[in-house]
Amino acid sequence: MISHCEQLLYQQLQAQGIHDSRVLAAIRCVPRQRFVDEALAHQAWDNTALPIGFGQTISQPYIVARMISELSKSSPRRVLEIGTGSGYQTAILAQLFERVYSVELLEPLLYQARRRLKMLDLHNVISRQGDGWQGWQSKAPFDAIIVSAAARCVPRMLLEQLADGGVMVIPVGESSQNLQRISRHGEHFTTQILEAVRFVPLVEGSRG
Ligand code: SAH
Repeated sequence: MISHCEQLLYQQLQAQGIHDSRVLAAIRCVPRQRFVDEALAHQAWDNTALPIGFGQTISQPYIVARMISELSKSSPRRVLEIGTGSGYQTAILAQLFERVYSVELLEPLLYQARRRLKMLDLHNVISRQGDGWQGWQSKAPFDAIIVSAAARCVPRMLLEQLADGGVMVIPVGESSQNLQRISRHGEHFTTQILEAVRFVPLVEGSRG
């Protein structure tokens, strides 16, 4: 039974231009309240970002839906996610794609996300602690890459790990950020600017 809050969220997503029925169905399958602190559960169906500890936030449902809609146009099978965070977006990706590889810098967030994904019986996710600037070389190439934190510039290693015909969606910039959709055609990359966004920064590790 769908709650009034959930109904309101779907209506908002549709009004904001999210029409991909597979993406909307996947969002409907994932209980967002399970991915935030109990004290914030009453706000879980609001179309806003919420704190998840360690100065990080669970992404706004609209942004998750927008980014995944951009990926699912190309029917990818193997997806790399950078910034597991709460695991909310990971759970949605797991409904839509065969295998999800997810990299998170902060171990406590990663362990918590893993517990939540297990509780929801999502077994097609492989995650590891690591620096997203490096991607996940041993599992590359990926049909799609989705980055949940804003990079100062597009990480070269992520471009290299994108399969031919693959698509990456990534917020780029510092004080002002743009969501970019980058598609690969052989050694050629095409960038499309989607919209202005606000993400937490993709922390600089040992850059590739
Ligand atoms: N989509 C997530 C958003 C999490 S916020 C959700 O819905 O919950 C962004 C996440 O990126 C944070 O968990 C942060 O720790 C992580 N992050 C930041 N820099 C990173 C890096 N260099 N490598 C991997 N993860 C990183």
